[in-house]
Amino acid sequence: MSTHLHHLISLAELDATTIGRLLDRAERMREASLHGTRRLDLLAGRTVLNLFFEPSTRTRTSFELAARRLGAIVVNFDLARSSTNKGETLLDTLHTLEAMHLDAIVVRHRETGTPAFMVRHAMSGVSIINAGDGNHAHPTQGLLDALTIRQHHPDFTKLRVAICGDIRHSRVARSDIHALCTMGVRELRLCGPASLLPETSEVPGCQVLEDFDAAIEGVDAVIMLRLQKERMAATLLPDEASYFQQYGLTPERLARAAPGCLVMHPGPINRGIEIDPAVADGAQSRILEQVGNGVFVRMAVLAEALGR
Ligand code: ASP
Repeated sequence: MSTHLHHLISLAELDATTIGRLLDRAERMREASLHGTRRLDLLAGRTVLNLFFEPSTRTRTSFELAARRLGAIVVNFDLARSSTNKGETLLDTLHTLEAMHLDAIVVRHRETGTPAFMVRHAMSGVSIINAGDGNHAHPTQGLLDALTIRQHHPDFTKLRVAICGDIRHSRVARSDIHALCTMGVRELRLCGPASLLPETSEVPGCQVLEDFDAAIEGVDAVIMLRLQKERMAATLLPDEASYFQQYGLTPERLARAAPGCLVMHPGPINRGIEIDPAVADGAQSRILEQVGNGVFVRMAVLAEALGR
């Protein structure tokens, strides 16, 4: 079975065939780009609006690049100058934007559920693409992480992966878990201090551990996460120096993983808190590959959602 994509809210809705098809399409776009085809006209004349209510460096830029490379017209909603600041509701903003005949709205919001709310209330055929909602989902990050891993290890069923850090508040972790479990990863370990771990019932099929040295033992990829202070009650915030001691990815800790273990991070990285600069900039770091793959994954998602 495979699902045609019109909206993309969470990877929980996608089966392995659909995820595999999106990764294949992203891979073809990457190869075309490496061979000098930077621009395709699949979305010529279409309009994509970036509606970001939360800060973003990578996601917003790469959605913009992705849409432009497919020939679409891109509009970046300027929150600071918008009527949201004059009390306009999200619903009124949505209907106002829809009246301008957009083909896709890429939305990021601090509230979980905002993109799904927009899907329920949209009156035109506009595609809604989730670029991160609260601690719920960041589906294109899940896809680009899966693509980055697959480029090094084509068979997910042989892989051991660890995700470490503030899992409880991380939408990236949730989307990575969906992507990797759906693709049949052999072992997925989630690691962090007890206060930042999810309930085990929330993450069936994953191992939940507090000891990072045990969690990283023999893994083929380790995905490090930032402390999401903006989503965290102050009482949960660990002391940064002791956090680094217990959960920082140092060269010594990385040596416990499988040889050549991929070091990943969705960014922004906080050097010296969750990752040692020597590892972030080291030979095993795939962080910039992830950034590059983000553009191709977003091209694949937009091309598919807009039906070309
Ligand atoms: N950039 C990712 C996100 O938007 C991860 C992070 O902010 O730590 O969720």
